[in-house]
Amino acid sequence: MIKDIKGLHHVTSMAADAAQNNRFFTETLGLRRVKKTVNFDAPEVYHLYYGDEIGTPGSVMTYFPFGQMTQGRRGTGEVGVTEFAVPEGALGFWKDRLAAQGASGLKEDSFLGEKRLEFAGPDGDGFALVESADRGRTAWTGAGVPEEAGILGFHGARMRLRDSAATAELLGFMGYQKDETQGDVTRYRIEGGNAADTIDLEAVSGGRAAAQGAGSVHHIAFAVEDRAAQARVREALLDTGYQVTPVIDRDYFWAIYFRTPGGVLFEIATNEPGFDRDEDTAHLGQALKLPARYEPYRARIEELLPPIGA
Ligand code: ZN
Repeated sequence: MIKDIKGLHHVTSMAADAAQNNRFFTETLGLRRVKKTVNFDAPEVYHLYYGDEIGTPGSVMTYFPFGQMTQGRRGTGEVGVTEFAVPEGALGFWKDRLAAQGASGLKEDSFLGEKRLEFAGPDGDGFALVESADRGRTAWTGAGVPEEAGILGFHGARMRLRDSAATAELLGFMGYQKDETQGDVTRYRIEGGNAADTIDLEAVSGGRAAAQGAGSVHHIAFAVEDRAAQARVREALLDTGYQVTPVIDRDYFWAIYFRTPGGVLFEIATNEPGFDRDEDTAHLGQALKLPARYEPYRARIEELLPPIGA
């Protein structure tokens, strides 16, 4: 069994409009944009990262805003809900704020005793804010969000699957322990993680498969401390029969990817070197950062990218 996974590292989704995406995460949710770079395979598309002050693994929501992209269709074989943790008592604040800013799909609920507020992102993205006990994380309080309500990072992610058995087995292999079940949803939790430590599997028998588009999660990444831990995880996955990519340098972490039995793309990402490797903490996310191979084309790339504001 793998012992190196520390919870979620980041969640990467797709969006249509880049400026709208930037506005929603920095102004509505009050997160900090911690990196403005490009899709390493398509440099005319941004890769925007939002999180806490330094983009601590377990807090980082990232987006590829493709411009004119049709909305995805929610369904099975995807991460249906990306969950952010907020302090206990914060949901009233968020309900008012999200309603005032025109967010749709607001729905209060509870799961395994935790209060949650589901809402949709600008492209129909499935999100929830979950009240959770303080685990020593500090919220980034942008755009007038008070400290007692600020987003602390991820709580977890909920996957919707037609057949969750094989994914449950994989999570067990990755070090997650089965927690409780409520209705069709079973929670898995990692011990000794970074607080972004739950994965919920929702069994949707006969559900229609999701179609990826704007508002869909592209992949979820799990955190490992360093490259040595990542190499151990890669070996273990290969030994078990998973098709895992070679290690890819993403400038701010190293990544490996593999497709899971339920259809969701998983990544294992290192906590090193982090988002301050090429700009200081005070200015994170402001300048356009390009991987070295695209630097010669900076002027052209800057021309192609739409303005997104501060
Ligand atoms: Zn990723």
